[in-house]
Amino acid sequence: DLFYRQLPKVELHAHLNGSVSFETMETLMKRKPHLNIEHSMTAIRRGQRRSLDECFQVFKVIHQLVDSEEDILMVAKAVIQDFAADGVKYLELRSTPREVTETGLTKQRYIETVLEAIRQCKQEEVDIDVRFLVAVDRRHGPVVAMETVKLAEDFLLSSDGVVVGLDLSGDPTVGHGKDLLSALENAKNCGLKLALHLSEVPSQRDESELLLNLPPDRIGHGTFLHPEVGGSDSLVDKVCKQNIPIEMCLTSNVKGQTVPSYDKHHFQYWYKRGHPCVLCTDDKGVFCTDLSQEYQLAASTFGLTREAVWMLSQQAIGYTFAPEPIKQRLEKKWAELKQQIL
Ligand code: 5GP
Repeated sequence: DLFYRQLPKVELHAHLNGSVSFETMETLMKRKPHLNIEHSMTAIRRGQRRSLDECFQVFKVIHQLVDSEEDILMVAKAVIQDFAADGVKYLELRSTPREVTETGLTKQRYIETVLEAIRQCKQEEVDIDVRFLVAVDRRHGPVVAMETVKLAEDFLLSSDGVVVGLDLSGDPTVGHGKDLLSALENAKNCGLKLALHLSEVPSQRDESELLLNLPPDRIGHGTFLHPEVGGSDSLVDKVCKQNIPIEMCLTSNVKGQTVPSYDKHHFQYWYKRGHPCVLCTDDKGVFCTDLSQEYQLAASTFGLTREAVWMLSQQAIGYTFAPEPIKQRLEKKWAELKQQIL
């Protein structure tokens, strides 16, 4: 539907390596034929589902394909261009810095290369404002988390406002947030905004209770926070009192099977309460979606009017980690486009 494509959008939850399109994957596969990787190993097509565990296997495969500065530059530029082509005007991209001995890739160069891709897109006048969140993979434990925070802190000061925050992601069944708390506190104290994956699986209740005290600036998923799915009133109270926006990824949650069907998605629970919700793609490549499709899906599943859809996309501006003048610029852009599109 043209309306959803034309709708100006804000994307706040997109993992770089999960966002690589079919076409870009094809290029990577041709570059590395010896790996014998096929599309079925990097994407979950329509109607297909995987366990969350299988989803994390997919990322391991993609990481084999994207393992040098050259790959990262290509992938990051392509992903930014894809989002722009889908009508995303503001994007916060997140990625876990990796080091790869064979290609000489370091974590520092990893981040610098993503920032170079952002710079090149800007220079080429791609119509999108891009910021970056440095991601901590919880699987790697507290020492790596602390190192990553230090790296993120350096870039917060040197990247001209492009690095704005820290993400906590990775397999939610591995490790406990209590071990990462001091790294996250450090990040917060040095001015990094926190976007944390919380309660993606039911067993994270105590962890969420703890991490919500930080508090995070945004919540990723938050699937099992509310009491109807085994969360608690106390968790909901903390989220509501602190008015913490929740990043919602419908297709990702249904294909990853943490949510049984679209109509049972927790978007419904939070949206009805008037809580800040922002629709996002999570991994548009892996889950074969885009942000237009996510808006359309939410509208058709929950019966949202076009006016309500517009409000949803406009309100997301307020949940970005962008400085105030950028938010104002985006508000202006939305206002200009409104008569044309709505
Ligand atoms: P990258 O950080 O390499 O750019 O993107 C892939 C990584 O993002 C994965 O290895 C994983 O750590 C994280 N990730 C992507 N999708 C999800 C998700 O749905 N849940 C969680 N917890 N982590 C994810």
